[in-house]
Amino acid sequence: MTESRKFRMGMVGGGPGAFIGPVHRIAAELDGRIEMVAGAFSQSAERGYEEMLKAEKGRPDAIDFVVIATPNHLHLPVAKAALEAGFPVVSDKPATATYDEVLALEKVVAKAGLPYALTHTYAGYSLVREARAICASGELGPIRKIAVEYLQGWLSHPLEATGQKQASWRSDPKLNGPGGCIGDIGTHAFHMVEYVTGLEVTELNAALRSVVKGRPLDDDCSALMRLNNGASGVLMASQIAAGEGNGLRLRVYGEDASLDWKQEDPNRLRIKRVEGPEEIRHAAGGYLSADARTVTRLPGGHPEGYLEAFAVLYREFADVLTAWKAGDKKSLPATLPGIKAGVRGMRFIDRAIESSKSGSWIKF
Ligand code: NAD
Repeated sequence: MTESRKFRMGMVGGGPGAFIGPVHRIAAELDGRIEMVAGAFSQSAERGYEEMLKAEKGRPDAIDFVVIATPNHLHLPVAKAALEAGFPVVSDKPATATYDEVLALEKVVAKAGLPYALTHTYAGYSLVREARAICASGELGPIRKIAVEYLQGWLSHPLEATGQKQASWRSDPKLNGPGGCIGDIGTHAFHMVEYVTGLEVTELNAALRSVVKGRPLDDDCSALMRLNNGASGVLMASQIAAGEGNGLRLRVYGEDASLDWKQEDPNRLRIKRVEGPEEIRHAAGGYLSADARTVTRLPGGHPEGYLEAFAVLYREFADVLTAWKAGDKKSLPATLPGIKAGVRGMRFIDRAIESSKSGSWIKF
């Protein structure tokens, strides 16, 4: 889908030294359909986003949507202000800082009736789309077991004590919300489970720990899960796994076969069967599902990665905006995470904390 002009984006967050704001800018502009024209980038102007929205609302060439790349405590107020001013939203995850907040946001999104997308980046990888298509096709047989891990080592020492930007707000419950590692990367792992398998978690037994002395939020999490088809799952998320970088890995075991995808080797998807040799599917293979091929930009052997996956989410969002401008108020495609994924993710954090406190299984 193409349009006669580029969509105009206004960004909140993503100032100098920020991590994900610049990634959003690169990803949004990669396909040449979106340009950043406005922003409230820094915390020095606490309510700068309100001024931006006010100014944009009156312009003939106003922004078409708002991107939120701030610490978590601002996700709800900024999304609410943007939607109430009539602007669609792309927000980074987790959707809000707390579960109560996401329930409020869900109502705001429904009332505004505008597109709201959530950047669970890993949903944009072509081989994650392939894994999703494989699960939906039944090729693995009935799914019995899921193992997901997201291991990082960057918080192995008290980095927040040095004033490091990303570590500082993530260690402050007021800015981050009550779930530390479980909210920051556990939600990505949880999203992968439901997104790829199409199943839903129904029960959870989680153990959260704060390993680094003086850290008020969890930095190491383990959880057992039960899913709505009777499958069981194991989720590990840790930010004190010394030496790990961005070790997200998903394995799904069916009765007949299994799949294995690793974010640090994203252009290969391994399929193993009870009998027979291991199969490796390569990104851009002509034999892949249509879902995987449509989000592939380069010929085989030319690695695509994090930025391209992120850009896939923006491409799908641009498609939605194009349809809206043409009067077709369609909802987000099922491949693009939205408010439903946001509510599930926040519920996951809430339930995991509750289960860890009580030391028992808890209904989702
Ligand atoms: P960061 O600290 O690097 O950047 C946050 C930015 O927000 C900073 O530039 C800060 O100045 C700005 N900010 C703070 N208060 C503001 C205000 N009132 N108005 C405008 N700007 C303000 O943090 P980060 O690591 O980039 O994380 C930002 C968000 O992105 C978090 O919600 C995080 O969970 C999410 N994130 C998502 C992914 C992903 O894979 N999708 C990866 C990293 C971070």
